[in-house]
Amino acid sequence: MLDKTIAARIFEEVDRDFDRQMADTQRFAAIPSLRGREGPAQDYIADLLRDRGYEVDDWTVQPGDLAGLPDLGALERVPAGVRSVVGTLRPEGGGGGRSLIIQGHCDVVPAGPADMWNSPAFVPEIRDGWLYGRGAGDMKAGTIAGIYAIEALRRAGLRLNERLHLQSVVEEESTGAGALAVLQRGYRADCALLPEPTGLAYNGICVGVVWFRLRVRGRPAHVASAGSGANAIKAIYPLIKALEELEERWNERAAKDPDYREVKHPINFNPGIIKGGDWASSVPAWCDLDWRLAILPGWNLNDCRREVEDCVKQAASRNPFLAQNPPKLEWSGFLSHGYRATERPDIMQALEHAHSNATGEPLRHKTSTGANDARFYGNYFDIPAFCYGPLAENIHGLDERVSLDSIRAATKTIACFAAEWCGVYRIDSLRDSEAAGTCGGCDGDEE
Ligand code: ZN
Repeated sequence: MLDKTIAARIFEEVDRDFDRQMADTQRFAAIPSLRGREGPAQDYIADLLRDRGYEVDDWTVQPGDLAGLPDLGALERVPAGVRSVVGTLRPEGGGGGRSLIIQGHCDVVPAGPADMWNSPAFVPEIRDGWLYGRGAGDMKAGTIAGIYAIEALRRAGLRLNERLHLQSVVEEESTGAGALAVLQRGYRADCALLPEPTGLAYNGICVGVVWFRLRVRGRPAHVASAGSGANAIKAIYPLIKALEELEERWNERAAKDPDYREVKHPINFNPGIIKGGDWASSVPAWCDLDWRLAILPGWNLNDCRREVEDCVKQAASRNPFLAQNPPKLEWSGFLSHGYRATERPDIMQALEHAHSNATGEPLRHKTSTGANDARFYGNYFDIPAFCYGPLAENIHGLDERVSLDSIRAATKTIACFAAEWCGVYRIDSLRDSEAAGTCGGCDGDEE
């Protein structure tokens, strides 16, 4: 267990550097790294890592290069490729510890209507102890917290005994291709920590997510003779209703799950995007509806996909127009199993110590109704993975925000966890006061 005085020294460094950490968080959150436009965000992280002496690997793969990887979603909308940035710190001495991956995603979801935000989504603003902005909580504050956690160790004159990879990926919000790309590249460790906004709780359980698009095509007509033309938008109704019924059946099934039976309505089917028609006075010839749905850990993805296909097929067969013009179902993004981490006593102990040192409170556990990249590590590469990070609200919604106090606490926890997990050694040739000036990127005037 980490020595109390060492922990106190680490916390001092987190506090001392916190303004700079928040300035970096704000600058990072100001980058509108929407899907396919993450380049500047990856540049930003690569620079932060390079400044701190990490060996930086920055590469791009095309969707086709990832074929065959497990649970890879449909990548039709990623023409620019999948870019990953990994910073590595190798132990210069020490040894005998365990290696660690800290991974964040830099992609963010669209902000929605600009006039519905109290301050612009990509002009991050601090108000009343919260940082507001799209992606501030999910999960730019967490990624920067990971970097500053390791920085605090270095400023405290400590070095990790084992290899650390700080990874920034894309596509977390749509296919998971970013996490798969770093695994394909060969990055491995004894444990992976993802500083997603868990509200300072441990999260090792998450749902799987599936995206699909329903395409309905009808015969166009003038609205005055609507009887003769099939209305593609109206034809979507019975399909929505049928899928809502399937959602309820899946929630009944979920009520028997030991982890999810306490969670209210864990399975959410979301019709998220609807497009259709071209003219108010024309009967719409087409309608596309994009869905997100969830499956619980342990459920078979292919069986679930078949259930969805059958549900759409049956609903279509009961409708006179759809029976003649069967809707098309296309998988359009996520195709992912859920994840239930095996709780490893060594990881739990290190995290419990770190969290209670940093916050003075016992560690809570959280069961997630969303998906995250931990699943790839745990499900397919035998790397125990979990999420732990700050407290955020309205992620994917309006006025997304993340609490500054929780960012500070998460940074301290991550620093202590890394120190305990990887093991640390002191730089003997330097006194504490001088050691803080040895890391790249430090202002050197804090002492
Ligand atoms: Zn996230």
